[in-house]
Amino acid sequence: MSYDSNNIFAKILRGEIPSFKLYEDDWTFAFMDIMPRADGHLLVIPKEPARNMLDASPAQLANCMATVQKLSHAVMEAFGADGVTLQQFNEEAGGQEVYHLHFHVLPRHDDVALRPPGKMADMDVLKRNADKIIAALKD
Ligand code: 5GP
Repeated sequence: MSYDSNNIFAKILRGEIPSFKLYEDDWTFAFMDIMPRADGHLLVIPKEPARNMLDASPAQLANCMATVQKLSHAVMEAFGADGVTLQQFNEEAGGQEVYHLHFHVLPRHDDVALRPPGKMADMDVLKRNADKIIAALKD
């Protein structure tokens, strides 16, 4: 299985498709998931190509995880969350739909289930939630 540089997240990284950017460093990029399963649902991706966890380098995985932790602290604060769920899918059988390595960060509240997948967000709400996370990152 090879990397297709026309996947949606590669286009987001190249600025060809808009996204609500939350954070970036030399190695990683974080942005809002467009079909959030919880308020504040975001994605962390490496800047260099990797199809998924299976072909990623140890450095890519380590860099992504550092950003996942940073953004997890931010969503805990921004949404008064009780916890965080991470999701990461590999290949079609593993539930992967976009073939650029990504980690889902989902803020969670006690006794609140994740919403079903596949429902597009209201863009004003997504922007408001992005702004909350960006503000929490500054603390
Ligand atoms: P997965 O590959 O982890 O199963 O799912 C891909 C994730 O990417 C889904 O949660 C979906 O909502 C999100 N997604 C798909 N297309 C876009 C897009 O164009 N922009 C953003 N921000 N997220 C997307």
